[in-house]
Amino acid sequence: MTQALNASVDLAVCKGHGRCYMTAPEIFDCDDAGFPLVIGTATTEQQISDLQRAVNNCPEQAVSVSPAG
Ligand code: SF4
Repeated sequence: MTQALNASVDLAVCKGHGRCYMTAPEIFDCDDAGFPLVIGTATTEQQISDLQRAVNNCPEQAVSVSPAG
């Protein structure tokens, strides 16, 4: 059983590139200005994989995760 993960974004360093919500669309949406909104917890293997890729692909290292529950 893989550990479910919560995502968070440090909006103080986020530049709104959008890679996170394109990479993990079930975890992130974007606001009208193009900045990410966390909309879900990663619970499935696919969501967890997508979220880990979003962490790795954020140019500003603004995405972090923590164990859910
Ligand atoms: S990829 Fe990183 S910098 Fe770009 S919108 Fe997402 S959190 Fe912000």
